[in-house]
Amino acid sequence: MSGSAPVGRFAPTPSGRMHLGNVFAALIAWLSVRSRGGHLVLRMEDLDTQRTSEEYARILREDLMWLGLDWDLETPPQSSRSAVYDRYFEKLMDLGLLYPCYCTRSQLHSVNAPHLSDGTYVYPGTCRDLTPAQRESFGRAPAWRVRVPASQWQLTDLCQGEYTQDLEAECGDFVVRRADGIYVYQLAVTVDDGEAGVTEVVRGTDLLSSAPRQMYLQQLFGFSHPTYGHVPLLMSSDGRRLSKRDRDLDLGQLRLRCSAEHVLGVLAHAAGLMDKPEPISAKELATVFSWEKLRKDSIYLDSSALT
Ligand SMILES: [Zn+2]
Repeated sequence: MSGSAPVGRFAPTPSGRMHLGNVFAALIAWLSVRSRGGHLVLRMEDLDTQRTSEEYARILREDLMWLGLDWDLETPPQSSRSAVYDRYFEKLMDLGLLYPCYCTRSQLHSVNAPHLSDGTYVYPGTCRDLTPAQRESFGRAPAWRVRVPASQWQLTDLCQGEYTQDLEAECGDFVVRRADGIYVYQLAVTVDDGEAGVTEVVRGTDLLSSAPRQMYLQQLFGFSHPTYGHVPLLMSSDGRRLSKRDRDLDLGQLRLRCSAEHVLGVLAHAAGLMDKPEPISAKELATVFSWEKLRKDSIYLDSSALT
């Protein structure tokens, strides 16, 4: 590893107010990079233009600033980059690695196969070797899948430690462009992080199983692999994963009753970074942050601490 300063990123989806799980992942991404004098890039992941809006993007920036989580550069939103993604898609096409897939969602889910923690089913290769005549016979636009060779992917996660995945057996050929022409997360995130020179990706542990797909695409596109840190999910005290549905814990509500320092102190304490849930600023927290202190398993949050 080079001694140069790390480049991290925030990559929120502007589809609503940040909830505490988003805040926690953003906080750790910020602390990891800022505690070592690195830089942060902000990017709006708005591939799903039906659910996202510029108004939510504006509020997200404002919420991050309120928390004291600043960034150095905002790169263009994903919704504006389909011409860029086209170039990388063509690259995969030129490598002979793409093929059209006509499977319907219900066909894919009816295969009683194991699936990864992010909900991805192992693709059985149904459309891998269709003849041109067979492809023609479907009479509709296909999704496009990238061929996955037999390969083991290994990474040393900053939080979860060693992680290994047999990409062919555990995932199989995966979709890079949907039938409606929209590029999927795997391709967009690989291109965006690669082009922005991101060296460290910190996000929720539910995305750990997708990292090998991105590492495979990074290799094909000629990008370096970033370091990964997959942080635990926040759970309510009754054992549910906190989500957007917990409206009283989104920033719109929290900002009405708590200071940023109060929210950060409660999160930092629950995550093992501080002995007591005392109010603290992001800057102060950066002076005591270390990955060693951070809890590795689910973090249970007593929401009464945020009333
Ligand atoms: Zn198929």
